[in-house]
Amino acid sequence: MTEVKVNNFKACCDQFERAADKLGLDEKLSQSLMMPDRELAVEVPLTKDDGTLEVFRGYRIQHNNARGPFKGGIRYHQDVDLDEVRALASLMTWKTALVDIPYGGGKGGITVDPRSLSQRELERLSRTFFRRIGPVIGINKDIPAPDVNTNSQIMAWFMDEYSQHHGHSPAIVTGKPIDLGGSLGREAATGRGVFITIRETAKEFEMDLSESTAIIQGFGNVGSFAASFLHESGCKVVAVSDVTGGLYDPQGLDIPALREYARANRVIEGFARGKSVSNDELLNTGCDFLVPAALGGVIHKMNAGGLNCKFVIEAANGPTTPPADEILFEKKIVVMPDILTNAGGVTVSYFEWVQNLQQFRWEEDLVNEKLEHKMTTAYHEVNSLRKDKNVSFRTAAFMVAIDRVARTVKLRGF
Ligand code: GLU
Repeated sequence: MTEVKVNNFKACCDQFERAADKLGLDEKLSQSLMMPDRELAVEVPLTKDDGTLEVFRGYRIQHNNARGPFKGGIRYHQDVDLDEVRALASLMTWKTALVDIPYGGGKGGITVDPRSLSQRELERLSRTFFRRIGPVIGINKDIPAPDVNTNSQIMAWFMDEYSQHHGHSPAIVTGKPIDLGGSLGREAATGRGVFITIRETAKEFEMDLSESTAIIQGFGNVGSFAASFLHESGCKVVAVSDVTGGLYDPQGLDIPALREYARANRVIEGFARGKSVSNDELLNTGCDFLVPAALGGVIHKMNAGGLNCKFVIEAANGPTTPPADEILFEKKIVVMPDILTNAGGVTVSYFEWVQNLQQFRWEEDLVNEKLEHKMTTAYHEVNSLRKDKNVSFRTAAFMVAIDRVARTVKLRGF
């Protein structure tokens, strides 16, 4: 894939400033809301299975907690750096405010390719990392969750590590296994939220989902669940991709079979049906909804001009760079921003935390019903402000979120 170096935090600040300007936010307040409250970098030593020592770098960035404890995932990836985690932490502040849940924003990560580690190495690395960020986390302080390449097993190790010193504490992380206090519906929540965003967009633009097509880049937790919900709605998923490349079938891929295959083989490569396409080709293929559901910065100024979709649905965090955003605007491609589109995950994380604090489990139907309500309310707030102020969905989403955080900061005092 064409690689373009992206300054993630600057991209986030550009988006923030555009909305803060429209709101007429005080310059000093705007500067202070943009910057993270606290940044922690840690060394994470790991004794490998063969006895050698390797040291990794880890981060926890706490962006803003005016509306509640810092909240956000932890990602394991070889490209994780301070700039990226900073950007992701700030997106969490706006995302939690947009869906109006009582949290701030944070994010963590380790610069590591987890595929290079054995399961026991992964466990040791995770436990050491959690101990090292221990001083800044807490049930009412900062609550981690899964993100790229982390999962419910890793959350179980985090919870266990914390509980050894603080007593049984399921509310310290979300995205846990159901047996350890995880919420029903959490695993599918981000993909479900992505689907709700697409469904509401289709209604708004008078399109029939059962006559529409979608392409999904990334077939991890978010991409595969989004693909399933789209498939069930009758929308044709004509192409998907993962790190091994893409598959294309203009008649629509058999998503249930592909999910089954990906579960068993961990990749989509080798699936019997569909023509193989590169990630670059996939982005240029014609469709109604293009859903980047993998990493940030994949739609950039070098490739945005070639996109051939009606909507970009940002299931990943930060997939479109600001220059690409402008190109898409010129091309009249509508972008549904990440802080709205993928907010379903943190919304059900909030429900999980509430269940843990209440020590009372909700039925899955209740979780999904409340998620539906949160997502559609946020969608319609953004959509009506967008029309009212004649701005993009992204700027409107940031405006709703920034206004909420700014009001809280003013009420609490600096
Ligand atoms: N990592 C997810 C996100 O970017 C979920 C965060 C959470 O549940 O706290 O929204």
